[in-house]
Amino acid sequence: MKIGVLALQGAFIEHIAMLHRLGVEVVEVRLPEHLDGLDGLIIPGGESTTIGKLAEMYGLMEPLRAFAAAHPVWGTCAGMIFMAKEIGLSQPLLGLMDIVVERNAFGRQVDSFTTHVTITGLDAPFPALFIRAPRLIEARNGAQIIARLADGTAVAAQENGWLVTSFHPELTNDPRLHQYFLSLVKQGQNV
Ligand code: GLN
Repeated sequence: MKIGVLALQGAFIEHIAMLHRLGVEVVEVRLPEHLDGLDGLIIPGGESTTIGKLAEMYGLMEPLRAFAAAHPVWGTCAGMIFMAKEIGLSQPLLGLMDIVVERNAFGRQVDSFTTHVTITGLDAPFPALFIRAPRLIEARNGAQIIARLADGTAVAAQENGWLVTSFHPELTNDPRLHQYFLSLVKQGQNV
């Protein structure tokens, strides 16, 4: 199995480290040809406006959409914003998942926090780290909310092989969400 990590900006090194820990071969994706032969792709957290602008500059927008139509893709934090159809702001988006996302929904960097969230499909609560994180306002047309905070705020969704999380599993020591994504890849979701 070969997994790509979009390596334009943001926390891609940490995703790569977690995938290596799980024994997976990883490719850093910076150009369209780097998608060839991959079984799945992770879009990391960072700054969604920067990731979007760089993706446009490197001619990655259409290749990423074509890849996602036939493979699992997981977006964490800024990656979730980049995968959304609707965010109420003008910036480059892949527009894959029919989700409405609000950027910076929990305040500033200093308001970062960790909390345990119950995620559908995981056996025990997950330590979720939120850094200037987005939240999900709505999931439509096959996109399902799979995690909420205690106050009901939606923070993760899935649509077949597409996964989005508001938080940063690559910055914690818990590999279960990476394993969950790899299980979607093994099942051949979206393929
Ligand atoms: N606030 C960032 C954005 O809007 C996301 C933050 C993150 O990825 N940790 O893109």
